[in-house]
Amino acid sequence: MTSKPVVVIGGGLAGITASVDLADRGHEVVLLESRSRLGGAAGSFERGGVRADTGQHVLLRCYTEYRGLIERMGASSLVSIQDSMDIPVIIEGRPIARLHRGQFGPAPMHLIPAVARYGALTPRERASAIRAARAIRSIDPDDCMTDERTFGEWLRSHGQNDRVIRRLWGLLCVAALNLTPDAASLALAAKVIQTGLLAEVSGGDIGLIQAPLSQVHDDAAARLLAHLGVTVRRGSRVTAVDQSDNGFVVRTRSDEVAARGAVLAIPHQYAARIVPPSAIADPDSWGGLGASPIINTHLRFDRTVTHLPFAAAPESPVQWLFDRTSALGIKTGQYLVTSTSAADSLSSATAQQICTSQYDALAVLLPGVRQAKVLDTFVTREPRATFRQAAGTARLRPQAQTALPGLVLAGAWTATGWPDTMEGAVRSGHVAAEVLCRSASGSLPTNDPTGSSRREAIA
Ligand SMILES: Cc1cc2nc3c(=O)[nH]c(=O)nc-3n(C[C@H](O)[C@H](O)[C@H](O)COP(=O)(O)OP(=O)(O)OC[C@H]3O[C@@H](n4cnc5c(N)ncnc54)[C@H](O)[C@@H]3O)c2cc1C
Repeated sequence: MTSKPVVVIGGGLAGITASVDLADRGHEVVLLESRSRLGGAAGSFERGGVRADTGQHVLLRCYTEYRGLIERMGASSLVSIQDSMDIPVIIEGRPIARLHRGQFGPAPMHLIPAVARYGALTPRERASAIRAARAIRSIDPDDCMTDERTFGEWLRSHGQNDRVIRRLWGLLCVAALNLTPDAASLALAAKVIQTGLLAEVSGGDIGLIQAPLSQVHDDAAARLLAHLGVTVRRGSRVTAVDQSDNGFVVRTRSDEVAARGAVLAIPHQYAARIVPPSAIADPDSWGGLGASPIINTHLRFDRTVTHLPFAAAPESPVQWLFDRTSALGIKTGQYLVTSTSAADSLSSATAQQICTSQYDALAVLLPGVRQAKVLDTFVTREPRATFRQAAGTARLRPQAQTALPGLVLAGAWTATGWPDTMEGAVRSGHVAAEVLCRSASGSLPTNDPTGSSRREAIA
Protein backbone atom coordinates (compact mmCIF):
# COMPACT_ATOMS: atom_id res chain seq x y z
CA MET A 1 0.00 0.00 0.00
CA THR A 2 1.28 3.47 -0.85
CA SER A 3 2.13 5.79 2.02
CA LYS A 4 1.18 9.01 0.23
CA PRO A 5 -1.09 11.29 2.26
CA VAL A 6 -4.33 12.98 1.33
CA VAL A 7 -3.70 16.71 0.89
CA VAL A 8 -6.24 19.33 1.91
CA ILE A 9 -5.59 22.72 0.32
CA GLY A 10 -6.93 25.68 2.33
CA GLY A 11 -7.25 25.93 6.11
CA GLY A 12 -10.58 27.76 6.37
CA LEU A 13 -13.56 26.08 8.03
CA ALA A 14 -14.17 23.89 4.97
CA GLY A 15 -10.58 22.61 4.87
CA ILE A 16 -10.42 22.14 8.64
CA THR A 17 -13.63 20.08 8.57
CA ALA A 18 -12.49 17.94 5.64
CA SER A 19 -9.15 17.31 7.40
CA VAL A 20 -10.89 16.26 10.61
CA ASP A 21 -13.25 13.89 8.78
CA LEU A 22 -10.47 12.32 6.71
CA ALA A 23 -8.31 11.85 9.80
CA ASP A 24 -11.33 10.34 11.58
CA ARG A 25 -11.47 7.77 8.79
CA GLY A 26 -7.87 6.84 9.35
CA HIS A 27 -6.19 8.74 6.52
CA GLU A 28 -2.86 10.46 6.79
CA VAL A 29 -3.68 14.12 6.10
CA VAL A 30 -1.50 17.10 5.19
CA LEU A 31 -3.25 20.49 5.33
CA LEU A 32 -1.62 23.27 3.29
CA GLU A 33 -2.63 26.84 4.19
CA SER A 34 -1.16 29.88 2.48
CA ARG A 35 -1.47 32.21 5.46
CA SER A 36 0.24 32.00 8.81
CA ARG A 37 -3.08 31.20 10.50
CA LEU A 38 -6.03 28.86 10.11
CA GLY A 39 -9.66 30.04 9.95
CA GLY A 40 -9.67 31.74 6.54
CA ALA A 41 -12.37 34.40 6.29
CA ALA A 42 -13.23 33.99 9.96
CA GLY A 43 -10.01 35.00 11.68
CA SER A 44 -8.25 37.66 13.72
CA PHE A 45 -5.09 39.74 13.64
CA GLU A 46 -3.02 41.53 16.28
CA ARG A 47 -3.39 45.27 16.75
CA GLY A 48 -2.22 47.26 19.75
CA GLY A 49 -2.14 44.23 22.04
CA VAL A 50 -5.68 43.18 21.03
CA ARG A 51 -6.65 40.31 18.73
CA ALA A 52 -9.13 42.09 16.45
CA ASP A 53 -11.43 40.14 14.13
CA THR A 54 -11.35 40.61 10.37
CA GLY A 55 -15.15 40.62 10.43
CA GLN A 56 -18.03 40.11 12.84
CA HIS A 57 -19.35 36.56 12.70
CA VAL A 58 -22.81 35.62 13.92
CA LEU A 59 -24.10 32.07 14.05
CA LEU A 60 -27.61 30.75 14.48
CA ARG A 61 -28.78 27.81 16.56
CA CYS A 62 -29.68 26.07 13.28
CA TYR A 63 -25.96 25.95 12.39
CA THR A 64 -25.84 22.34 13.55
CA GLU A 65 -22.71 21.28 11.68
CA TYR A 66 -20.69 24.37 12.61
CA ARG A 67 -21.65 23.92 16.24
CA GLY A 68 -20.68 20.25 15.99
CA LEU A 69 -17.21 21.25 14.79
CA ILE A 70 -16.84 23.78 17.61
CA GLU A 71 -17.78 21.06 20.07
CA ARG A 72 -15.16 18.72 18.56
CA MET A 73 -12.62 21.49 19.07
CA GLY A 74 -13.59 21.70 22.73
CA ALA A 75 -14.51 25.36 22.20
CA SER A 76 -18.26 25.36 22.88
CA SER A 77 -17.73 27.42 26.04
CA LEU A 78 -16.49 30.28 23.82
CA VAL A 79 -19.85 30.50 22.01
CA SER A 80 -22.97 31.96 23.59
CA ILE A 81 -26.40 31.46 22.03
CA GLN A 82 -29.50 33.41 23.03
CA ASP A 83 -32.24 31.53 24.90
CA SER A 84 -34.66 32.99 22.44
CA MET A 85 -34.03 35.10 19.33
CA ASP A 86 -33.99 38.77 20.30
CA ILE A 87 -32.67 41.39 17.86
CA PRO A 88 -32.63 44.99 19.11
CA VAL A 89 -33.35 47.36 16.21
CA ILE A 90 -32.28 51.01 16.50
CA ILE A 91 -33.89 53.63 14.29
CA GLU A 92 -33.12 57.34 14.76
CA GLY A 93 -35.74 59.17 16.82
CA ARG A 94 -37.64 56.02 17.86
CA PRO A 95 -37.51 53.79 20.94
CA ILE A 96 -35.48 50.63 20.40
CA ALA A 97 -37.67 48.07 18.62
CA ARG A 98 -37.14 44.35 19.07
CA LEU A 99 -37.57 41.28 16.92
CA HIS A 100 -38.15 38.88 19.78
CA ARG A 101 -39.60 35.47 19.08
CA GLY A 102 -42.29 33.83 21.17
CA GLN A 103 -41.30 30.95 23.45
CA PHE A 104 -43.74 28.40 22.17
CA GLY A 105 -44.49 26.58 18.96
CA PRO A 106 -45.26 24.84 16.91
CA ALA A 107 -43.04 26.69 14.45
CA PRO A 108 -43.71 29.05 12.77
CA MET A 109 -46.32 30.28 15.28
CA HIS A 110 -43.47 31.52 17.48
CA LEU A 111 -42.70 34.19 14.89
CA ILE A 112 -46.10 35.82 14.99
CA PRO A 113 -45.41 37.67 18.28
CA ALA A 114 -41.96 38.70 16.98
CA VAL A 115 -43.45 40.48 13.99
CA ALA A 116 -46.72 41.51 15.67
CA ARG A 117 -44.81 43.40 18.39
CA TYR A 118 -42.13 44.84 16.08
CA GLY A 119 -42.43 48.56 16.72
CA ALA A 120 -40.50 49.62 13.61
CA LEU A 121 -43.53 48.82 11.42
CA THR A 122 -47.15 49.98 11.44
CA PRO A 123 -49.83 47.41 12.42
CA ARG A 124 -50.87 47.12 8.77
CA GLU A 125 -47.25 46.53 7.70
CA ARG A 126 -46.83 43.87 10.39
CA ALA A 127 -49.92 42.04 9.18
CA SER A 128 -48.62 42.10 5.63
CA ALA A 129 -45.20 40.85 6.79
CA ILE A 130 -46.82 37.91 8.58
CA ARG A 131 -48.69 37.02 5.37
CA ALA A 132 -45.41 37.12 3.43
CA ALA A 133 -43.67 34.95 6.05
CA ARG A 134 -46.43 32.38 5.62
CA ALA A 135 -45.97 32.47 1.82
CA ILE A 136 -42.18 31.97 2.14
CA ARG A 137 -42.88 28.56 3.66
CA SER A 138 -44.11 27.26 0.32
CA ILE A 139 -41.09 28.40 -1.72
CA ASP A 140 -38.88 25.54 -2.93
CA PRO A 141 -35.26 26.75 -2.50
CA ASP A 142 -33.96 23.80 -4.50
CA ASP A 143 -35.98 24.71 -7.60
CA CYS A 144 -33.57 26.32 -10.08
CA MET A 145 -36.31 28.69 -11.26
CA THR A 146 -36.58 30.05 -7.71
CA ASP A 147 -32.91 30.95 -7.85
CA GLU A 148 -33.45 32.97 -11.03
CA ARG A 149 -35.69 35.42 -9.15
CA THR A 150 -34.61 38.12 -6.70
CA PHE A 151 -35.94 38.22 -3.18
CA GLY A 152 -36.91 41.89 -3.64
CA GLU A 153 -39.07 41.17 -6.68
CA TRP A 154 -40.83 38.36 -4.80
CA LEU A 155 -41.39 40.56 -1.73
CA ARG A 156 -42.99 43.32 -3.81
CA SER A 157 -45.20 40.81 -5.58
CA HIS A 158 -46.36 39.78 -2.10
CA GLY A 159 -47.37 43.27 -1.01
CA GLN A 160 -44.25 44.30 0.90
CA ASN A 161 -43.61 48.05 0.70
CA ASP A 162 -40.17 49.68 0.73
CA ARG A 163 -40.21 50.28 4.47
CA VAL A 164 -41.09 46.68 5.35
CA ILE A 165 -38.37 45.54 2.98
CA ARG A 166 -35.78 47.84 4.56
CA ARG A 167 -36.75 47.40 8.20
CA LEU A 168 -37.50 43.69 8.24
CA TRP A 169 -36.57 41.61 5.20
CA GLY A 170 -33.59 43.75 4.18
CA LEU A 171 -32.21 43.71 7.72
CA LEU A 172 -32.16 39.90 7.60
CA CYS A 173 -31.15 39.55 3.95
CA VAL A 174 -28.17 41.92 4.00
CA ALA A 175 -26.80 40.26 7.14
CA ALA A 176 -27.33 36.69 5.93
CA LEU A 177 -26.58 37.02 2.21
CA ASN A 178 -24.33 40.09 2.12
CA LEU A 179 -26.56 41.52 -0.60
CA THR A 180 -29.68 43.69 -0.76
CA PRO A 181 -33.03 41.98 -1.44
CA ASP A 182 -33.18 43.57 -4.90
CA ALA A 183 -30.09 41.63 -5.96
CA ALA A 184 -30.20 38.56 -3.70
CA SER A 185 -31.30 35.12 -4.86
CA LEU A 186 -34.84 34.26 -3.77
CA ALA A 187 -33.74 30.65 -3.28
CA LEU A 188 -30.98 31.57 -0.81
CA ALA A 189 -33.17 34.07 1.03
CA ALA A 190 -35.91 31.44 1.35
CA LYS A 191 -33.35 28.89 2.57
CA VAL A 192 -32.19 31.26 5.33
CA ILE A 193 -35.68 32.27 6.44
CA GLN A 194 -37.12 28.75 6.28
CA THR A 195 -34.19 27.14 8.11
CA GLY A 196 -33.45 29.94 10.55
CA LEU A 197 -36.90 31.26 11.31
CA LEU A 198 -39.69 28.97 10.15
CA ALA A 199 -38.60 25.35 10.58
CA GLU A 200 -37.79 25.20 14.30
CA VAL A 201 -38.82 27.47 17.15
CA SER A 202 -35.23 28.00 18.26
CA GLY A 203 -33.46 27.89 14.87
CA GLY A 204 -32.93 31.68 14.68
CA ASP A 205 -31.53 32.16 18.19
CA ILE A 206 -28.40 34.21 17.68
CA GLY A 207 -24.96 33.03 18.70
CA LEU A 208 -21.82 35.10 19.18
CA ILE A 209 -18.25 33.97 19.62
CA GLN A 210 -17.15 35.35 22.97
CA ALA A 211 -13.45 35.41 22.09
CA PRO A 212 -11.28 36.55 19.20
CA LEU A 213 -12.29 34.40 16.22
CA SER A 214 -8.78 33.00 15.91
CA GLN A 215 -8.94 31.58 19.43
CA VAL A 216 -11.57 29.20 18.06
CA HIS A 217 -10.84 28.83 14.32
CA ASP A 218 -7.04 28.83 14.66
CA ASP A 219 -5.90 27.88 18.19
CA ALA A 220 -8.64 25.34 19.01
CA ALA A 221 -8.72 24.03 15.43
CA ALA A 222 -4.94 23.50 15.44
CA ARG A 223 -5.16 21.60 18.74
CA LEU A 224 -7.82 19.27 17.33
CA LEU A 225 -5.89 18.70 14.10
CA ALA A 226 -2.69 17.95 16.03
CA HIS A 227 -4.62 15.56 18.27
CA LEU A 228 -5.82 13.72 15.15
CA GLY A 229 -2.32 13.57 13.67
CA VAL A 230 -2.98 16.00 10.79
CA THR A 231 0.17 17.74 9.54
CA VAL A 232 -0.57 21.45 9.16
CA ARG A 233 1.78 23.49 6.99
CA ARG A 234 1.14 27.22 7.28
CA GLY A 235 2.62 29.67 4.80
CA SER A 236 2.22 27.05 2.03
CA ARG A 237 0.52 28.64 -0.97
CA VAL A 238 -0.41 25.98 -3.50
CA THR A 239 0.42 27.02 -7.05
CA ALA A 240 -0.61 23.90 -8.99
CA VAL A 241 -2.29 20.53 -8.64
CA ASP A 242 -1.10 18.09 -11.31
CA GLN A 243 -2.35 14.60 -11.97
CA SER A 244 0.32 11.93 -11.59
CA ASP A 245 0.38 8.17 -12.28
CA ASN A 246 -0.87 7.31 -8.88
CA GLY A 247 -2.65 10.41 -7.60
CA PHE A 248 -1.58 14.05 -7.64
CA VAL A 249 1.41 16.28 -7.18
CA VAL A 250 0.47 19.36 -5.15
CA ARG A 251 2.99 22.13 -5.76
CA THR A 252 3.81 25.14 -3.63
CA ARG A 253 6.40 27.79 -4.49
CA SER A 254 9.14 25.95 -2.64
CA ASP A 255 7.98 22.39 -2.34
CA GLU A 256 5.77 19.65 -3.70
CA VAL A 257 3.73 16.93 -2.03
CA ALA A 258 2.78 13.64 -3.68
CA ALA A 259 -0.84 12.92 -2.72
CA ARG A 260 -3.22 10.00 -3.05
CA GLY A 261 -6.14 12.40 -3.10
CA ALA A 262 -6.76 16.11 -2.68
CA VAL A 263 -9.45 18.43 -1.35
CA LEU A 264 -9.37 21.88 -2.93
CA ALA A 265 -10.93 24.06 -0.21
CA ILE A 266 -9.99 27.55 -1.33
CA PRO A 267 -12.09 30.47 -2.68
CA HIS A 268 -13.43 30.05 -6.21
CA GLN A 269 -11.21 32.66 -7.84
CA TYR A 270 -8.07 30.84 -6.64
CA ALA A 271 -9.47 27.36 -7.19
CA ALA A 272 -10.16 28.19 -10.85
CA ARG A 273 -6.45 28.97 -11.33
CA ILE A 274 -5.05 25.73 -9.97
CA VAL A 275 -7.64 23.05 -10.61
CA PRO A 276 -6.33 20.63 -13.31
CA PRO A 277 -8.10 21.24 -16.66
CA SER A 278 -9.23 17.61 -16.85
CA ALA A 279 -11.08 17.93 -13.53
CA ILE A 280 -13.59 20.66 -14.40
CA ALA A 281 -15.06 21.50 -17.78
CA ASP A 282 -15.23 25.26 -17.35
CA PRO A 283 -13.68 26.64 -14.15
CA ASP A 284 -13.80 30.13 -15.70
CA SER A 285 -17.58 30.05 -15.19
CA TRP A 286 -16.94 30.30 -11.44
CA GLY A 287 -15.95 33.91 -12.12
CA GLY A 288 -19.70 34.54 -12.48
CA LEU A 289 -20.04 33.98 -8.74
CA GLY A 290 -18.28 37.32 -8.22
CA ALA A 291 -17.64 38.80 -4.80
CA SER A 292 -19.45 40.96 -2.28
CA PRO A 293 -17.52 43.09 0.22
CA ILE A 294 -17.96 43.61 3.96
CA ILE A 295 -16.36 46.52 5.80
CA ASN A 296 -15.97 46.68 9.57
CA THR A 297 -15.24 49.90 11.45
CA HIS A 298 -13.63 49.39 14.84
CA LEU A 299 -14.11 52.15 17.44
CA ARG A 300 -12.57 52.11 20.92
CA PHE A 301 -14.17 54.51 23.40
CA ASP A 302 -12.92 55.51 26.85
CA ARG A 303 -16.29 54.58 28.38
CA THR A 304 -19.40 52.51 27.81
CA VAL A 305 -21.68 54.09 25.20
CA THR A 306 -24.28 51.33 24.92
CA HIS A 307 -25.42 48.35 26.96
CA LEU A 308 -26.62 46.46 23.89
CA PRO A 309 -24.42 43.43 23.04
CA PHE A 310 -25.35 43.93 19.39
CA ALA A 311 -28.05 45.70 17.39
CA ALA A 312 -29.34 46.18 13.88
CA ALA A 313 -29.68 49.66 12.42
CA PRO A 314 -31.52 49.14 9.13
CA GLU A 315 -32.03 52.82 8.27
CA SER A 316 -28.43 53.80 9.04
CA PRO A 317 -25.08 53.28 7.30
CA VAL A 318 -24.10 51.46 10.50
CA GLN A 319 -26.29 48.44 9.53
CA TRP A 320 -25.18 46.31 12.50
CA LEU A 321 -23.11 47.07 15.59
CA PHE A 322 -21.40 44.70 18.02
CA ASP A 323 -19.90 45.25 21.45
CA ARG A 324 -16.66 43.21 21.43
CA THR A 325 -15.20 44.60 24.67
CA SER A 326 -15.32 41.54 26.89
CA ALA A 327 -14.93 39.04 24.02
CA LEU A 328 -11.55 40.58 23.20
CA GLY A 329 -10.55 40.77 26.88
CA ILE A 330 -10.61 44.59 27.06
CA LYS A 331 -10.93 45.79 30.64
CA THR A 332 -11.67 49.50 30.26
CA GLY A 333 -13.88 51.58 28.01
CA GLN A 334 -15.84 49.98 25.17
CA TYR A 335 -14.84 48.42 21.85
CA LEU A 336 -17.63 48.68 19.28
CA VAL A 337 -17.52 47.38 15.74
CA THR A 338 -19.94 48.40 13.01
CA SER A 339 -20.41 45.89 10.20
CA THR A 340 -21.40 47.11 6.77
CA SER A 341 -22.37 44.34 4.35
CA ALA A 342 -22.86 44.64 0.58
CA ALA A 343 -20.42 47.53 0.94
CA ASP A 344 -19.69 48.15 -2.78
CA SER A 345 -20.45 51.86 -2.42
CA LEU A 346 -17.61 52.20 0.13
CA SER A 347 -14.97 50.43 -1.94
CA SER A 348 -13.26 53.65 -3.06
CA ALA A 349 -13.69 55.50 0.26
CA THR A 350 -10.58 56.04 2.38
CA ALA A 351 -10.33 54.52 5.86
CA GLN A 352 -10.55 58.03 7.31
CA GLN A 353 -13.75 58.76 5.40
CA ILE A 354 -15.31 55.47 6.53
CA CYS A 355 -14.33 56.02 10.18
CA THR A 356 -15.76 59.54 10.15
CA SER A 357 -19.04 58.59 8.50
CA GLN A 358 -19.53 55.53 10.74
CA TYR A 359 -18.74 57.58 13.85
CA ASP A 360 -21.24 60.25 12.83
CA ALA A 361 -23.91 57.63 12.08
CA LEU A 362 -23.26 55.88 15.39
CA ALA A 363 -23.51 59.17 17.27
CA VAL A 364 -27.00 59.69 15.82
CA LEU A 365 -28.10 56.27 17.11
CA LEU A 366 -26.31 56.26 20.49
CA PRO A 367 -26.38 59.58 22.33
CA GLY A 368 -23.47 58.53 24.61
CA VAL A 369 -21.05 58.48 21.69
CA ARG A 370 -20.56 62.28 21.56
CA GLN A 371 -19.66 62.41 25.27
CA ALA A 372 -17.05 59.66 24.97
CA LYS A 373 -13.45 60.07 23.89
CA VAL A 374 -12.39 57.96 20.91
CA LEU A 375 -9.17 56.10 21.76
CA ASP A 376 -8.69 54.32 18.43
CA THR A 377 -10.51 53.76 15.16
CA PHE A 378 -9.60 51.63 12.19
CA VAL A 379 -11.22 49.82 9.31
CA THR A 380 -11.01 46.21 8.13
CA ARG A 381 -12.03 45.52 4.55
CA GLU A 382 -12.90 42.14 3.12
CA PRO A 383 -13.50 42.87 -0.58
CA ARG A 384 -14.28 39.20 -1.26
CA ALA A 385 -16.08 38.44 1.98
CA THR A 386 -18.56 36.13 0.25
CA PHE A 387 -19.46 35.29 -3.30
CA ARG A 388 -22.17 37.59 -4.71
CA GLN A 389 -25.23 35.60 -3.73
CA ALA A 390 -27.33 37.02 -6.52
CA ALA A 391 -30.21 35.56 -8.49
CA GLY A 392 -28.95 33.02 -11.01
CA THR A 393 -25.83 31.89 -9.15
CA ALA A 394 -27.00 28.41 -8.03
CA ARG A 395 -26.16 26.91 -11.43
CA LEU A 396 -22.55 28.18 -11.11
CA ARG A 397 -21.84 26.47 -7.77
CA PRO A 398 -20.10 23.14 -8.39
CA GLN A 399 -20.68 19.85 -6.59
CA ALA A 400 -17.79 18.43 -4.57
CA GLN A 401 -17.11 15.69 -7.10
CA THR A 402 -14.83 16.60 -10.03
CA ALA A 403 -14.19 14.56 -13.16
CA LEU A 404 -11.00 13.24 -11.55
CA PRO A 405 -11.58 10.57 -8.89
CA GLY A 406 -9.54 11.56 -5.86
CA LEU A 407 -9.88 15.31 -6.41
CA VAL A 408 -12.82 17.07 -4.74
CA LEU A 409 -13.92 20.62 -4.10
CA ALA A 410 -14.97 22.22 -0.82
CA GLY A 411 -15.77 25.72 0.36
CA ALA A 412 -18.81 27.77 1.29
CA TRP A 413 -19.14 28.77 -2.38
CA THR A 414 -19.71 25.19 -3.62
CA ALA A 415 -23.17 23.67 -4.09
CA THR A 416 -24.12 23.24 -0.45
CA GLY A 417 -27.67 24.62 -0.78
CA TRP A 418 -26.64 27.03 2.00
CA PRO A 419 -25.51 30.61 1.66
CA ASP A 420 -21.81 31.49 1.94
CA THR A 421 -21.64 31.05 5.72
CA MET A 422 -19.66 29.20 8.35
CA GLU A 423 -22.35 26.51 8.34
CA GLY A 424 -22.09 26.16 4.55
CA ALA A 425 -18.30 25.89 4.80
CA VAL A 426 -18.43 23.12 7.41
CA ARG A 427 -21.11 21.23 5.49
CA SER A 428 -19.00 21.42 2.33
CA GLY A 429 -16.02 19.98 4.22
CA HIS A 430 -18.08 17.01 5.41
CA VAL A 431 -19.38 16.34 1.90
CA ALA A 432 -15.90 16.65 0.35
CA ALA A 433 -14.42 14.08 2.73
CA GLU A 434 -17.34 11.74 2.14
CA VAL A 435 -17.14 12.05 -1.66
CA LEU A 436 -13.37 11.64 -1.68
CA CYS A 437 -13.56 8.43 0.31
CA ARG A 438 -16.39 7.10 -1.86
CA SER A 439 -15.04 8.12 -5.27
CA ALA A 440 -11.59 6.71 -4.67
CA SER A 441 -12.39 3.94 -2.26
CA GLY A 442 -9.86 1.64 -3.94
CA SER A 443 -6.94 3.98 -3.46
CA LEU A 444 -8.12 5.61 -0.24
CA PRO A 445 -8.60 2.75 2.20
CA THR A 446 -10.49 3.55 5.35
CA ASN A 447 -8.39 2.26 8.19
CA ASP A 448 -10.97 3.12 10.82
CA PRO A 449 -14.32 3.14 9.08
CA THR A 450 -16.29 4.42 12.05
CA GLY A 451 -13.66 6.81 13.29
CA SER A 452 -15.31 6.25 16.64
CA SER A 453 -12.04 5.93 18.48
CA ARG A 454 -11.09 9.48 17.49
CA ARG A 455 -14.38 11.31 17.30
CA GLU A 456 -14.41 12.51 20.89
CA ALA A 457 -14.07 16.22 21.63
CA ILE A 458 -10.69 17.35 22.84
CA ALA A 459 -9.97 19.18 26.09
C1 LIG B 1 -16.25 40.10 7.14
C2 LIG B 1 -16.99 38.80 7.07
C3 LIG B 1 -18.11 38.59 7.85
C4 LIG B 1 -18.80 37.37 7.78
N1 LIG B 1 -19.87 37.19 8.61
C5 LIG B 1 -20.41 35.94 8.70
C6 LIG B 1 -21.39 35.67 9.68
O1 LIG B 1 -21.78 36.54 10.46
N2 LIG B 1 -21.89 34.39 9.74
C7 LIG B 1 -21.47 33.40 8.89
O2 LIG B 1 -21.93 32.27 9.03
N3 LIG B 1 -20.54 33.64 7.94
C8 LIG B 1 -20.00 34.88 7.82
N4 LIG B 1 -19.04 35.13 6.88
C9 LIG B 1 -18.73 34.09 5.88
C10 LIG B 1 -17.82 33.00 6.43
O3 LIG B 1 -16.68 33.57 7.04
C11 LIG B 1 -17.37 32.12 5.25
O4 LIG B 1 -18.50 31.60 4.59
C12 LIG B 1 -16.52 30.92 5.68
O5 LIG B 1 -15.58 31.27 6.66
C13 LIG B 1 -15.81 30.40 4.44
O6 LIG B 1 -15.00 29.30 4.78
P1 LIG B 1 -14.22 28.48 3.64
O7 LIG B 1 -13.39 27.49 4.33
O8 LIG B 1 -15.18 28.04 2.63
O9 LIG B 1 -13.28 29.56 2.90
P2 LIG B 1 -12.15 30.52 3.47
O10 LIG B 1 -12.46 30.93 4.85
O11 LIG B 1 -11.96 31.58 2.44
O12 LIG B 1 -10.86 29.59 3.53
C14 LIG B 1 -10.05 29.34 2.43
C15 LIG B 1 -8.62 29.22 2.92
O13 LIG B 1 -7.79 28.87 1.81
C16 LIG B 1 -6.58 29.59 1.92
N5 LIG B 1 -5.99 29.64 0.58
C17 LIG B 1 -6.38 30.42 -0.47
N6 LIG B 1 -5.61 30.15 -1.56
C18 LIG B 1 -4.74 29.19 -1.17
C19 LIG B 1 -3.71 28.48 -1.85
N7 LIG B 1 -3.42 28.71 -3.15
N8 LIG B 1 -2.98 27.56 -1.17
C20 LIG B 1 -3.26 27.30 0.15
N9 LIG B 1 -4.23 27.94 0.83
C21 LIG B 1 -4.97 28.86 0.17
C22 LIG B 1 -6.99 30.91 2.49
O14 LIG B 1 -5.89 31.60 3.09
C23 LIG B 1 -8.06 30.50 3.49
O15 LIG B 1 -7.50 30.24 4.76
C24 LIG B 1 -18.36 36.35 6.89
C25 LIG B 1 -17.23 36.55 6.10
C26 LIG B 1 -16.54 37.75 6.20
C27 LIG B 1 -15.29 37.94 5.38
